[in-house]
Amino acid sequence: MTLVVVGSSLAGLRAVEAARREGFAGEIVLIGAERHLAYDRPALSKAYLVTGEPVRHFQTVQVLRDDLQVDVRLGVTATGLDPAAKIVRTSTGVVPYDTLVIATGAAPRVPPDIPALDGVLALRTMEDAAALRELLHPGTRVLVLGAGFIGSEVASSSRQLGAVPTVIDSAPVPLVRAVGTDIGRALASLHMRNGTPLRLATAVEEFIGRDRVEGVRLTTGEILPADLVVVGVGAAPATGWLTECGIELDPRDHGIVCDAYLRTSLPDVFAAGDVAHWPNADLGATMRLENWTNASAQGAHAGTNAVTPDAMTPYRTVPYFWSDWYGQRIQFVGTGAGDDVEFVSGGPDEERFIAAVWQGDRLVGAAALNEPRKVMKLRRLIALRGTRQDVRELLDPVPQAVGFAGREESLPSVSGTTSERRQS
Ligand code: FAD
Repeated sequence: MTLVVVGSSLAGLRAVEAARREGFAGEIVLIGAERHLAYDRPALSKAYLVTGEPVRHFQTVQVLRDDLQVDVRLGVTATGLDPAAKIVRTSTGVVPYDTLVIATGAAPRVPPDIPALDGVLALRTMEDAAALRELLHPGTRVLVLGAGFIGSEVASSSRQLGAVPTVIDSAPVPLVRAVGTDIGRALASLHMRNGTPLRLATAVEEFIGRDRVEGVRLTTGEILPADLVVVGVGAAPATGWLTECGIELDPRDHGIVCDAYLRTSLPDVFAAGDVAHWPNADLGATMRLENWTNASAQGAHAGTNAVTPDAMTPYRTVPYFWSDWYGQRIQFVGTGAGDDVEFVSGGPDEERFIAAVWQGDRLVGAAALNEPRKVMKLRRLIALRGTRQDVRELLDPVPQAVGFAGREESLPSVSGTTSERRQS
């Protein structure tokens, strides 16, 4: 019995670790196109850009090989899949599988009209980050295309280095699809408060420069000089190697279609991480997530289900991600797709806030700026289908009647509050 995992970043690593934890005694082969085993990708746009300190790896090849008996093949690219013969084709030959986990993640979307000029970069890998860091110096004029999370982090880190970033986004309010208009506007104001100009509702019409980028002309006619352009307009699931094998892919390029157990349309083939699109029972919607926490948990879940086919469980999660801009911690839980947003603590222009996303009376999402503890409690509330009343009680607890209790101690138990009502 052989488990093959394609993709040796976080989801792939957690899949092989989970398979061994489940007691799987068969052969495990881990195939990854990068030369490195899973590393702290989120640090690439944050601490690494600012300090240049090497990013953390989450496991060593030696431990995987010696302790977990995993056949680790790095620098090897999967080029195709034959589900009838149950083989993965790779750049170094054919690998047979009995069960397969696909964890090939995502790659930056680079629009085809962007010319191949020196100084125009995207950011996904350690090598991309090293190339970017090489060009970032005090005074470097950086244009960031896309005011999403990665683009915004690059702008923030550039500023910390003394470079001069400007962020350009075609939407009038950034991040609307991810977090909605009100929260998107509140986050965008962080750029302005930290001195980074935004050019919104416009796009690049022309790149200026012969071999090396020297600037751009916007659709508004404005010309912005640049030493460096960072393209941060999103990522596409890495499914190019699967187009011939008959696996069902989302028609809007949103990844590999999976069921609740993370099974793909092909027998004995699972998917996890940024590449997987699955029905998430916690939010009652199908989705593909691009975040660290999901890649870890979903990778482990897919690895477990792949080696315990008689005891599979559905994968469900309340999404969580964080982002750091200008030394401030942004966190988001649940979904931005509600019908109402309310700042339940602080306000959109304050240094700390919590914004709740409601679907009727039910909490379905929350964004927080510099409120790390409360947001994790809200995450639990979303899973428990908490209401406006639950959120009020959580954020403004009734003081204890006897003696002194610290604020955290006097917080009502989330599960207690909600499940009690549910039972009544
Ligand atoms: P990936 O990390 O994309 O790994 C996929 C792996 O598969 C890669 O190593 C790739 O080379 C390999 N692969 C692809 N195709 C093939 C093939 N055909 N054959 C073999 N191997 C292949 N998330 C957060 O929650 N918070 C953050 O602050 C945050 N910051 C980020 C900052 C940056 C700069 C980036 C790029 C991402 C950030 N993320 C963040 C997102 C997070 O890093 C991803 O969600 C996570 O890495 C997904 O893990 P994954 O294993 O699914 O895919």
